[in-house]
Amino acid sequence: MMALPDEVPRSSITLFSDQAKVHRLRLTLKILTTILALLLFSELFFNDFLPTTLAFAMFSSIIILVFFFLWASADTCSVISGMVLWSVAVFITYACWLGNGIFDTSVLAFPCLLMLAIVLSGKLIFISLFVYLVSALCFFAFAHSQGLLSGALLFESLPLWGRVFSYIITLTFFSIGVFYIFSDIRKRFKKILEKNASLELAINQLRKRSRYDQLTQLPNDQVCKTDLDSILQQQKTSGNILAFITLNVSNQHSIKMNYSHRICDESLKQLANRLISFSNDNTSIYRFQENEFVILKNSIDYRGISSFVEKVHQACCHTFHVTDFDVVLQPDIGIALAPFDGSTMADLRHNSHLAMHTKSAGEKADFNFFDQAMAIQEQEKLQLTKALRNAIQNNELVLHFQPKVDLATEKIIGAEALIRWISPEFGFIPPTVFIPLAEQTGVITDITHWVIEHSVNACKQWQELGFTKLCIAVNLSAEDFKRGNLAMHTMALLHQANLPAHFLELELTESMLMDDINSIQKQINELRSFGISFAIDDFGTGYSNLGYLTKFNVSILKLDRSFVMNICQSSNELQIVKAIIEMSKSLNITNVAEGIEDKETANLLAKLGCEIGQGYLWSKPLPQQEFIALLSENNA
Ligand code: C2E
Ligand code: MG
Ligand code: MG
Repeated sequence: MMALPDEVPRSSITLFSDQAKVHRLRLTLKILTTILALLLFSELFFNDFLPTTLAFAMFSSIIILVFFFLWASADTCSVISGMVLWSVAVFITYACWLGNGIFDTSVLAFPCLLMLAIVLSGKLIFISLFVYLVSALCFFAFAHSQGLLSGALLFESLPLWGRVFSYIITLTFFSIGVFYIFSDIRKRFKKILEKNASLELAINQLRKRSRYDQLTQLPNDQVCKTDLDSILQQQKTSGNILAFITLNVSNQHSIKMNYSHRICDESLKQLANRLISFSNDNTSIYRFQENEFVILKNSIDYRGISSFVEKVHQACCHTFHVTDFDVVLQPDIGIALAPFDGSTMADLRHNSHLAMHTKSAGEKADFNFFDQAMAIQEQEKLQLTKALRNAIQNNELVLHFQPKVDLATEKIIGAEALIRWISPEFGFIPPTVFIPLAEQTGVITDITHWVIEHSVNACKQWQELGFTKLCIAVNLSAEDFKRGNLAMHTMALLHQANLPAHFLELELTESMLMDDINSIQKQINELRSFGISFAIDDFGTGYSNLGYLTKFNVSILKLDRSFVMNICQSSNELQIVKAIIEMSKSLNITNVAEGIEDKETANLLAKLGCEIGQGYLWSKPLPQQEFIALLSENNA
């Protein structure tokens, strides 16, 4: 199923193919036999059915022609054509000899014979026949002049040799005319057929392109759909299980960023080859999208599928050697089984995706089979999304503020705005649950607008209460940059709150900076030109690409809490944190440590040179009024 079909152009069956030649020869033989049979009948009829020499010659010729008819094939075609033409030539001249020589009606068959020679054979036979027929005419004329042939009707006006000459001239011009007309037709036909063949080749290539992925040469979703339909049809009688296995390479983006697009493509090609090694009569591999591979596996039982996917997963996890690099791919695998989980490609694909994403959401399994609970979860997600769309209008969103503390003085220097959603229908929903949903559905841009508006208002209120140096940090999503109007909206909101731009910090994560780098960089530069500063959030969890810090002109780096939490216990993490702090200092970037929960960690971080801390040690995120109370307490 994996091999690319090399489709043969239909034009190979042409006018000049062996088949066509045999067909033409057989047709000629049929016509000649019929003519001879009719002539034989008339010869016998006019001679009272007494066999004459001519009748005998006709009968023998019919036998020979029938034999040729039966013998004709692609291999014997040219030999038989020659033999037929020569037999007919000999027969006609013999008929003339027996009859009236050049005055015999058989002479009329000469041009026809030459025409047949052009159609059925090559130049050699044609020329030799032409010479033979002209010689025969001369010979008959000679025979007439010598009285060897009788029954000739000689006209005074046209002497014998004059008649021969006019026959020869007629024959010559007739032959030349037919020859050129036929070779012209032949040439034009050949050209048309050549064009047709190249057109068909192009169509086949296009058809192939539309059905096969260019990078890996694997068949695409169109082919998969056709195969799936036929397998599902067969399944009705076989009772086998069909697994629709979706395999996504989840770290494709990071490979592109950390290595290059070429290395990413090369590793996907190698992955395709590894997957192809699993293909057989029961297993087919396809590539749907950039990082989405699909395997159709036909099996008699569930266990067979499970052990198969295990092997596929192992094969994908082995290092890929691309030029001088060792690339590791992260495969996410989801499986839907037909007929239980669906009987159309759309259903099976959807359910295998649900299974795959359940894994990405945190389970440790290498692959997941779809089950109905996932569909229920998906349904709940849809309902949650619906509720989220109305959350802003229904005043269900609240902002909490978590203080950021100067590690040297323990004074609050600012706060991070963290959103909370209390839904009357679903209760408290953490941002880690609804923010990704909002990102997927596009609601995030409205949420971000709301958060910035409330954050700058809150900051303005702190200033009015005398906390004039506090900055407010707001988290952004990649989606916020997509519409291109972030800068305009943010500036309008700052203007509305009458808050100078340098009091606002915007937090980005590294993964956000992957898509459409140029557009994001442009918007960041615009916002920076107004005085807004940028922070890289959760540093250390993503690609930890130092290039971003300088490329995007980031002024704050927030160390992820997963490192910070363990620095007192793990020397590895201590070393990483130490290196990040030193690096950020050398780049003149302010560093903030997130998730500080105890004094010991805070002291160690201060000793390492970390400037700002954030964490439960000082406070959990608080509503505005409680945060203001904390500020007063901290300032007292
Ligand atoms: P983040 O921006 O890294 O925020 C820090 C998260 O760590 C917050 O979780 C905070 O409550 C928690 N945290 C702070 N200190 C400690 C600590 O000492 N111990 C522990 N265990 N946790 C601590 P939260 O509020 O649940 O927010 C989670 C994530 O949701 C945020 O991570 C951010 O990525 C996202 N998020 C929150 N609000 C917004 C928002 O308004 N817009 C966007 N786009 N994302 C938001
Ligand atoms: Mg943050
Ligand atoms: Mg963070």
